[in-house]
Amino acid sequence: MSSFDEFDAFEASSLSARAMAARPMPYLDELNPAQREAVECLDGPVLMLAGAGTGKTKALTARVVHLLNTGRARPNEILSVTFTNKAAREMKNRVGNMLGQVVEGMPWMGTFHSICVKLLRRHAELVGLKSNFTILDTDDQLRLLKQLVQAHGIDDKRWPARMLANIIDDWKNRALTPDRVPAADAGAYNHAGPRLYAEYQARLKELNACDFGDLLLHMVVIFQEHPDVLEQYQRWFRYILVDEYQDTNVAQYLWLRLLASAHKNICCVGDDDQSIYGWRGAEVGNILRFEKDFPGAHVVRLEQNYRSTPHILAAASGVIRGNANRLGKELWTEAQEGEKVRLIGHWDGEEEARWVGEEIEAMQSGTRGMRGYSLDEMAILVRASHQMRAFEDRFLTIGLPYRVIGGPRFYERLEIRDAMAYFRMVVSPSDDLAFERIVNTPKRGLGDKAQQTIQRIARANGVPLVDGAAIAIEMGEIKGKGAQALGRLITDLARWGRMTRATVPVEGDDAVLEDLNRPADRPEISHVELAQIILDESGYTEMWQNDKTPEAPGRLENLKELVKALENFENLQGFLEHVSLVMDNESDDHGAKVSIMTLHAAKGLEFPVVFLPGWEDGLFPSQRSMDESGVKGLEEERRLAYVGITRAEEVCTISFAGNRRVFGQWQSQMPSRFIDELPEDHVDVLTPPGLYGGGYGAAAPMGGFGGVKSNLETRVAEANVYNSPGWRRLQSRSQDRPVSQPREAKGQVIDLTAVSAFDMGERVFHQKFGYGSVIGIEGDKLEVAFEKAGTKKVVARFLCAADDIPF
Ligand code: ATP
Ligand code: MG
Repeated sequence: MSSFDEFDAFEASSLSARAMAARPMPYLDELNPAQREAVECLDGPVLMLAGAGTGKTKALTARVVHLLNTGRARPNEILSVTFTNKAAREMKNRVGNMLGQVVEGMPWMGTFHSICVKLLRRHAELVGLKSNFTILDTDDQLRLLKQLVQAHGIDDKRWPARMLANIIDDWKNRALTPDRVPAADAGAYNHAGPRLYAEYQARLKELNACDFGDLLLHMVVIFQEHPDVLEQYQRWFRYILVDEYQDTNVAQYLWLRLLASAHKNICCVGDDDQSIYGWRGAEVGNILRFEKDFPGAHVVRLEQNYRSTPHILAAASGVIRGNANRLGKELWTEAQEGEKVRLIGHWDGEEEARWVGEEIEAMQSGTRGMRGYSLDEMAILVRASHQMRAFEDRFLTIGLPYRVIGGPRFYERLEIRDAMAYFRMVVSPSDDLAFERIVNTPKRGLGDKAQQTIQRIARANGVPLVDGAAIAIEMGEIKGKGAQALGRLITDLARWGRMTRATVPVEGDDAVLEDLNRPADRPEISHVELAQIILDESGYTEMWQNDKTPEAPGRLENLKELVKALENFENLQGFLEHVSLVMDNESDDHGAKVSIMTLHAAKGLEFPVVFLPGWEDGLFPSQRSMDESGVKGLEEERRLAYVGITRAEEVCTISFAGNRRVFGQWQSQMPSRFIDELPEDHVDVLTPPGLYGGGYGAAAPMGGFGGVKSNLETRVAEANVYNSPGWRRLQSRSQDRPVSQPREAKGQVIDLTAVSAFDMGERVFHQKFGYGSVIGIEGDKLEVAFEKAGTKKVVARFLCAADDIPF
């Protein structure tokens, strides 16, 4: 008999009555009446359905404390599901603080996965596994699926194994074992999906392994098919608590419902407006169905927000109001009015990062008429992880400590390290570590054995691995397809190496097209173009294009961002040096740091100061999400916006860039439609420093807005980048070319300067080279004799007429 069978609930309750009388409960005094109601109503189902920052997590934590303090349950009888392991740790700490003592063991406080893995180890044999089963990572899982796909003679180019992995994952999220896959899904993966799923599960059993999805699925099956086991746990977990309930998927939901079905002591908290994991199978319907699942549920609604200022709350409410399918809740706060939500448009992404860096430094020292904030109190929340790169680079340049939460830093990402290894090989062919990393990535049919051969030969000859590889082919030690692919890699590396030495500076911020002192016979390829060539010709880009995991599109975006980052450097070498410095900088793990994370990772967190950059249509809301899921996708994006704004306690700054540069060309960006949805009375529009001077202080917030909501974004844009003196002048001088208005410019690459805006002999100003006179015009390319920097060819859009300069 297991130990929990011996435990008698009623004995504990009578003990608890005595304990209750004796123990102080100061934590109850910290709660408002509604929260207190949710905490004190210990028996039966309770649902706390409330908006952001209303103290749901706080009340949930207090409930755990109350259960312990009143003797209703021992620490190991409380099943408490949080969204991340970090959240579980924090909750344990808070429970300890509230109780005034260290809580010994709360073994069942954690994520669904961490809890299920423990349970499954105890009952593995019921699903044909041994208790020491291994958990496959995505790579192992794919390898296995690939073998199955190949064994069936399926063309895995048309039907990539990753696609199958996703389909199976989706079935598992829906708690569907192979025999329960509905007829409607029979056509999945070229009609082979259900059969391959069954084979995959059988193979996993043979290997004594399971994947992540299985952890929950197996437990649901065990509970469904073994009532005795279920019953044990229903008695064992006397009280169940779930945070972020809106993001549970079907399998998680079933698992909880089974466990709670006997005693019904389940308390779920959540917010339908914060459901942001629909793309991973979360069903917001679970929370809306709670009262049906648990009739007589005590529903507590919390409306007082304790986190944010009224302006921030109003801005978030304004945005979320755009969603049709919601319960609709109004939040209020007693907090002081504070700052309006700040909105600012920038010329481009780099400028945005620069501004945020300066702003953080200013806020640290308490200028801007606000209190000084420590770096720990500030966070940057991005929609897509590739946005982090510009901030990381900028912060490293100015020495601003930061941490990336919920994922690796940009240059530590797998795809970035791979790509960098290619660049390193091209710049220095004897970089053996880089060679090891790329030799079989993408797959070239060079397994461990071939790689050991290369190592051995290189060592014997005292040469770098790449040369060892060439010798290995020559000696016939590596043969067949592997040898062919390896031979091609070696030739390619050598060719790219020659091209590297012949690259010319890219048209960067300084837009130097040509230094007229440069010999004319050099080929005109920039290191940026070369980097793209390397990634494409090596097959590396294609590898991710063929990858059907949810992470693949993000990885491709990161690669694009990497190529873009190169534009800020003279050559590959300079860039590589920069990155090694970047990586070196991280050793110091102490001290305050700005947090950078995705909006998804920010769920449940709060910061006094929040920056929300990149609010541009296509980036946020994400084009992919809208393309894939239409209105549903857009609504989920809007909930993300709501999550983002409601993370802020005191200062919330939303920004967008008017342009993003993609492969050296400006792409005009349209401000996010969510900007349009911000209520004007709660927003201050700031003017950025501008291209040619001016500054924050000089910028009066744009008054009025004229009451036309839909105009907000355009007017913000006009107030900022589109209104700098140089910009206006360029616009007015070139009447016969398209005028870049953000609305009209959606998604197109616009050649802003097809016709030169300057005349021969005109005095001009360039940010880097200073003053000069136009001595030649070829379309949008000008030859300028600079007073200090000599004669250069530059692109017209990087110039402005000297009389536009306000100094
Ligand atoms: P989210 O929806 O973002 O997860 P939440 O509803 O879980 O938010 P909490 O994180 O629990 O909200 O609380 C938000 C902030 O309000 C925290 O700083 C918390 O300490 C504070 N708070 C909650 N309830 C009260 C209260 N009754 N009195 C004072 N402060 C409170
Ligand atoms: Mg919370």
